[in-house]
Amino acid sequence: MSDSSRLDSTQVAEDFRRAAHQAVDWIADYLADPREYPVLPAVQPGELTDRLPQSGPETGEPIERSLEDFQKLILPATTHWNHPGFMAFFGSSASGPGVLGEMLCAALNTNAMVWKSGPASTELEQTVLGWYRQWLGLPEDFFGVIYDTASMSSTHAMAAARQLADPECRQRGTRSGLTAYISTQTHSSIEKAAIALGIGQENVRKLEVDDEYRMRPDLLASAIEQDLAAGRKPFFVTATVGTTSTTSIDPVPEIADIAEQHGLWLHVDSAYGGAAAIVPELHHIFKGVDRAQSVVTNPHKWLFTPSDCSVFYTRRPDMLREAFSLIPEYLRTKDHPRAVNLMDYGLQLGRRFRSLKLWFVMRYFGHQGLQQILRNHVQWAQDLAAQIRADSRFEIMAPAPLSVVCFRLRSTDEANHRLIDKVNASGKVFLSGTVLKGKYTIRLAIGNIGTTWADVEQAWNLVKAAI
Ligand code: PLP
Repeated sequence: MSDSSRLDSTQVAEDFRRAAHQAVDWIADYLADPREYPVLPAVQPGELTDRLPQSGPETGEPIERSLEDFQKLILPATTHWNHPGFMAFFGSSASGPGVLGEMLCAALNTNAMVWKSGPASTELEQTVLGWYRQWLGLPEDFFGVIYDTASMSSTHAMAAARQLADPECRQRGTRSGLTAYISTQTHSSIEKAAIALGIGQENVRKLEVDDEYRMRPDLLASAIEQDLAAGRKPFFVTATVGTTSTTSIDPVPEIADIAEQHGLWLHVDSAYGGAAAIVPELHHIFKGVDRAQSVVTNPHKWLFTPSDCSVFYTRRPDMLREAFSLIPEYLRTKDHPRAVNLMDYGLQLGRRFRSLKLWFVMRYFGHQGLQQILRNHVQWAQDLAAQIRADSRFEIMAPAPLSVVCFRLRSTDEANHRLIDKVNASGKVFLSGTVLKGKYTIRLAIGNIGTTWADVEQAWNLVKAAI
C-alpha cells in the first residue's frame, strides 16, 4: 500500500472497518472467557521494551501488522485485569457494553470543555450521574461530574474545601495552618492531594483506627480541638466507605457530627465500596453520606465500566467553580441557564465523553442486574471467609463487610509471601497483600464481572495447596 493512500479518508475508514471487525471478534471472545491467558504475564521488567523498535516507522504499515503485534507482543506482557482470577487490589473489569461505549467515545472524540463543544457529552453526563445518584440514594442537591480517577476526584474535593475555608487562596496561595484529617487506613491519594494543593503533609493528621480498622471519632474530635487550640484551621476530613486494605467502613454519621460542629468539609471516599450502596441490603454502608459535602465512587472499579471513570458528587459545586473557573476570551460562550460548562468544575480543560460507557453499562445490566452481580460477590466473600475461619492453619485478619477477605497463614511473613508467589505463579489467580497489625496479610478481592464461585473456590484451593 502506498503512503498516499493514507491521506484518503475513505481508504483509512475501509482499513478500519476490516481491522475493527477482527478486533471486535477478538474482544468478544476475550471478554467471554479470558481464562485462556495467564492472569499475570511471565515477563521481566524491560523485556517488552527490548522487543519493541526503538523508533517509530517512517512509512505506514498495514493496520493488521499492529493487530498481529498486539497478539504477539502486547498480550504476553499484559496483566489481565479482566481475568476472573484477578483477585488482587480491587477488581476493575470491563464489560461488553462498557467497551462499546468507550469505542464510540473514541470515534466521536468530542471534547466537552464547554457545553457548545460537547452538548451531548455535557448533558448525558448530568443525566447519567442523576440516575446513579438515585441508585446510590443520595440527595438531589448533589451535583455530579466525572473525572478520570478517585485520586483526581478527591483532589478536587480538597481544592473545593480549601476554597471554602480560605476564599483568598486563589490569589494569595494556600494559607498556612489549614489542617486535614484522615485515618491510618485512608488511601494515599488524599495525602497526595494535600501535597499537590500546598496544604503540606505535616498538616494532615493520620488518626489511629479501632480494632476493625475504622476511623475513631473520639480521636478526630480531640485532634481538631488540639489544632484549634494551637491556632490552626481544621478544614477537611475524609471518611472512607471501603478502605483499601480491609474495606472497613468508617462511622460516617459520627464523623459528620464532628465535621458539622466545626465547619469541616466532609469528603467520603467510596472509590471501591460505593457501588455496593446500590444494593438495598447493603445500602447501610452509605449511612450518613448524605451529610457529606462530597463523595467519590469509581464505576471503573466495581461497576464494570472500563477505566477510567470516577464519579464525583458535591453539594457545593459553587466551591468547585470558585476554585477553578477561569475563562479566557477564546473559550467564552454565550450564557444560557441550562448550559453547563464542565471546564468550570475542575482543573482540566478537555474532557472525554466518559458518560457514554457508563450509560451503556447502566442500561444493559439495569439496576437489578448490577445489584445481583454485586450481591453475589459479597456473598461469595462471606462464604470464603467462613471456610477460611474453619481452617485452623489460617487466621482472618479483618472483618469482611464487602467482597474482600483478608487472611494469613498462621506462620511467618516470609511463609505468607512465598504462598502468594506460588499461587500467583499458577497463572490462574492473582492475589495481593497488605500489612495489618504489623503482619503481612493476603487480600483476596472479588469484584470481577466474570468471576464465579468456582473461581473463588479454585483460588482457595490453590492457596491451601501452596502451603
Ligand atoms: N480511594 C480508595 C479507597 C481506593 O481504594 C483507591 C484505589 O484503590 C483510590 C482511592 C485511588 O483510586 P484511583 O486509582 O481511581 O485514583
